[in-house]
Amino acid sequence: MAKVSINIKQGTIQKTSEVVIGIDLGTTNSLVAYTREGKTVVVKDESGKHALVPSILYFNKDKSVTVGDEARKMLALDPANTIYSVKRLMGKSFKDVLDFEQYFGYKVIDEDTDSLVKVMVGDKFYSPVELSAEILKALKLRIEKELNATVSRAVITVPAYFNDTQRQATRDAGKLAGLDVLRIVNEPTAASLAYGIGLDPEESKTIVVYDLGGGTFDVSVLRIQNGIFEVLSTNGDTFLGGDDFDRLLVDYWIEINARNKEQTIADKKLSQAMRLMAEKAKKSLSNTGQFKEMINDMNCQISIETFNKLAQPIVQKTIDYCKSALKDAKLGVADIDQVIMVGGSTRMKLVKDMVADFFEKPVNDSLNPDEVVAIGAGIQADVLAGNQKDILLLDITPLSLGIETVGGLMDTIIPRNSKIPIKAARQYTTSIDGQANLKVSVFQGERDLVEHNRKLGAFILKGIPPMAAGLPKIQIEFIINADGILTVKAKELRSNTEQEIEIRSQFGLSDEEMAKMLLDSIKHAESDMNTRALLEARNEAQNIVLSTGKFLVQNAGILSDDEKSQTADLAKQLAETIKGSDKDVINKAMEVINEYTTPLAQRALEHNISIALQGKNINDDAS
Ligand code: ADP
Ligand code: MG
Repeated sequence: MAKVSINIKQGTIQKTSEVVIGIDLGTTNSLVAYTREGKTVVVKDESGKHALVPSILYFNKDKSVTVGDEARKMLALDPANTIYSVKRLMGKSFKDVLDFEQYFGYKVIDEDTDSLVKVMVGDKFYSPVELSAEILKALKLRIEKELNATVSRAVITVPAYFNDTQRQATRDAGKLAGLDVLRIVNEPTAASLAYGIGLDPEESKTIVVYDLGGGTFDVSVLRIQNGIFEVLSTNGDTFLGGDDFDRLLVDYWIEINARNKEQTIADKKLSQAMRLMAEKAKKSLSNTGQFKEMINDMNCQISIETFNKLAQPIVQKTIDYCKSALKDAKLGVADIDQVIMVGGSTRMKLVKDMVADFFEKPVNDSLNPDEVVAIGAGIQADVLAGNQKDILLLDITPLSLGIETVGGLMDTIIPRNSKIPIKAARQYTTSIDGQANLKVSVFQGERDLVEHNRKLGAFILKGIPPMAAGLPKIQIEFIINADGILTVKAKELRSNTEQEIEIRSQFGLSDEEMAKMLLDSIKHAESDMNTRALLEARNEAQNIVLSTGKFLVQNAGILSDDEKSQTADLAKQLAETIKGSDKDVINKAMEVINEYTTPLAQRALEHNISIALQGKNINDDAS
């Protein structure tokens, strides 16, 4: 496959090898690593002490963004403008995060829809992709300072359970930060690479990666064979981690000091100080048996024995998840060759002991658990840079492949750098009632608008039976065989209507052309992303305008005249904003109309239910 690198500053394409960086984009902390003279290292801050960059953003008064330790200090001082745990929001819809909305100290817009979630800071809306891009930019800057050169190519890790949308969002964030993301790698895969497992194509192993971070727990069972990593199962809890130990300690101190819990927690300054003290105590207990400090007149004291007693049930929970993971992989503890420890919380001796006990073997903990994933990403990056010639690289797709969707947007079905052969599918639907035909146009490239990408072919799926818009389920499947030939199939699943084409010219681009397309995609990342956000906001707004119209007609009987005219007015105002080109204005107008109509919709729903129930009663009486 072609190897190209791009100098963003000069806008030139270089064919020489350039360092590729590895990034661990974590929920709590992020790191960047690279390989120097055959050794992979993490990059530290200016003091040379800290490699971890807290994944926290602070929005200053002038809307500029501070990332990392400085932002972390603002958590307690200015929560509304301090954004943490962005990773939890990546690729999620409003509906997905509704359940844990109260977990965030900042405003996650809370409408009950399928569209992607946004965060509101001041009067601006930010997507998780934009926010993650800020963290990536900070990491990029850090390594550029260290190398005294620009870097443009990266490998980024994600949890093994991340779905397509979450992976795509991570890629987009990289692009927005000015990085050409060569590959998205699973965190457990990176961890095992860091321990040197999987580097020898001859070896065959089954391993468990146990990752206990700040707020999440993941366990993965991997099989490594012929240099290929297969995830046999994953399990875990997205709300279980080091934070839980901190909370337990705070509760314990409140108890031994005979304080009122509500009052203490309500004192934001005190409770934040206690939380920080708890983390300090937890860490120091990993080295010593006792901890004792004061906050004002409060005695913050604990022994390792007491701490372990408090922590035991939480660690036991992680063991239960390990059990499930083994069961899903249809394996027993005897089938596991190695257990790898990842994440800051695995420094706790209790954790190591309980995990070793369960798997009946000592755990691999010789590497710094904070750095394992980043180091593995750095190794993978070095392989992709072509510096480790003895490692087999499987054939990959050089550019993303996808289809055109509403508004001329590119929807990627197979991302670039996917291993081939590969098969991937997505479902779409119609946008007009009774639509009988659907045109499928296939494109190759990294830009958000298809007009900037290369068209590979098109065909029409004919004979979709008449259905209301949104009802047909049209599956588009891309298959690339081992020779790199792409076949695209479209099938309406309710009626089994089917159509397909074969595209042979997939690798017809020269290296130069390919490099130019990649360069363009990075150069235009920001404007592309803005255009996409605007088009998406317009589509969404258009749908709201249409559904509001329908709603008014269907529920004319139960709305007051005032409500009707107010709703119609708001819909009109929203329609007006669609003509403009400011996504924030459109988003705001959507917020306003949603807020106004939600109680009306609720009332309409209750009314319809009560009518339905009445109908049922009549039937019951008759029978
Ligand atoms: P993530 O992968 O979620 O970004 P990390 O792997 O960086 O998170 O883990 C962060 C967590 O590790 C925090 O809860 C922190 O308190 C905890 N941690 C770090 N060092 C220690 C230690 N010595 N003992 C116990 N917990 C620790
Ligand atoms: Mg992590």
